[in-house]
Amino acid sequence: MKIRIEKTTAPKTLPAADNPLLFGTIFTDHMFIMDYNSEKGWFDSRIVPYGPILMEPSAMVFHYGQELFEGLKAYKAEDGRVLLFRPELNAKRSNDTCERICMPTIPVEDYVQAVKTLVDIDTKWIPERPGTSLYIRPFIFATEPALGVRPSSSYMFVIILSPVGAYYPEGLNPIKIWIEEEYVRAVRGGLGEAKAGANYVASLKAQIKAHEAGYSQVLWLDGIERKYVEEVGAMNIFFKIKGKVITPVLNGSILPGITRRSCMELCGMWGYEVIERQISADELFSAAGNGDLEEIWGTGTAAVISPVGILRKGDEVVKIAGGGIGELTRRLYDNLTGIQLGKIDGPDGWVTEV
Ligand SMILES: *Cc1c(COP(=O)(O)O)cnc(C)c1O
Repeated sequence: MKIRIEKTTAPKTLPAADNPLLFGTIFTDHMFIMDYNSEKGWFDSRIVPYGPILMEPSAMVFHYGQELFEGLKAYKAEDGRVLLFRPELNAKRSNDTCERICMPTIPVEDYVQAVKTLVDIDTKWIPERPGTSLYIRPFIFATEPALGVRPSSSYMFVIILSPVGAYYPEGLNPIKIWIEEEYVRAVRGGLGEAKAGANYVASLKAQIKAHEAGYSQVLWLDGIERKYVEEVGAMNIFFKIKGKVITPVLNGSILPGITRRSCMELCGMWGYEVIERQISADELFSAAGNGDLEEIWGTGTAAVISPVGILRKGDEVVKIAGGGIGELTRRLYDNLTGIQLGKIDGPDGWVTEV
C-alpha cells in the first residue's frame, strides 16, 4: 500500500515528563486516514496532521452507529526498539467485526503497515517511564450522507495515537468488581463478539451504577439466563479454581481478547490446565465459600492483567486471594509486560518491531 505523508508544520509540545498522561486525553501530531467507496474500494491512504474531520450531519454513523474500533499499544524497549504486541491479531479482529457490522474489510498487511508507519512518524511521542506506552486507536465508521437504514456505501478508516500513563502508577493493585443483575451488555446473536462502539453505549448505565457503589468495573452476566459470567467492562475474565485456569467460553456475546488468548497460551505453556467453559456466578460464590477460588484476574490491552480483590453480587461480597494479588496473576503480569517491553523472549511472533 502506498501511503502519502504530509507532516505537520506546527508540531505540538510533548507532555512534560511528570504529566500523568490520563488515558486517552492527549493526541500526537499525526493521524492516518484512508477512504472507501463502493466504486474505488479503499483508496487515498495518507498520514496528515492530527485534526478535526469534516463530515456531513447526515453521515450514517451519527444515526445508526455503524462504527468499530481496535486498541493496541506501542512500547519503547530499553534498547530503543519500538515494539508492537501481536498487531496482526487486531487487524484480523477488526475484519471479523467488519463482517458482523457489514463494513468492507482491510487487508491485514495494509492495516499493520498503516499502524507501523504512523507510530514511526510519531515515535518521539512514546513515553518512556515504567508502565507507560503509546496507545493506538484504529477505527472505521460509515460516512455516506443518507438516512436509509442499510450498510453505508462509504467509510473512513482512521488511526490516532495517544501517550498513556501507567495503569497502575503505584504498582499492580487489586480492583473491586460488581456483578450486574439488572442490565446486560450483549446477547448471543448480537454484537458482543464484535468490537463495535455500540457495545459500549449499552454498558454505560451499569458502569455508572458500579462506580457509584465504589466498584471499578462491571462483571457482566449472560443476557439470556443471567446466570453465567461473561466478561468485565473492557476486559476478559479468568478464575483459578483448585489449581485450574478457567475462562468463559467464547459463545458469541464475549469479545475475543488478544490478551485473553495470550494469557491462555502462556498458562498452557506453564503446565496449567486451561478450561474454556460456562461458569455461573453461583459456582463462583460457592467455590469462594469452600476456599477453592484462588485467584481472579481480568485481561485487556489497557491494564494487561488486573487482579480482582473483591467480587460482589447483590449482598454477597467475597475477598479473593485475601484481597491481594495471586501468584499466577502476578506471574502473568510480569511475563506479559516483560514480553511487550522486549525484556523477556516471548513465543515467536508475539512482538513486532516498528
Ligand atoms: C477490547 C476488549 C477486550 C480486551 O481485548 P484485548 O484484545 O485483550 O485488548 C475485552 N472485552 C471487551 C468488551 C473489549 O472491547
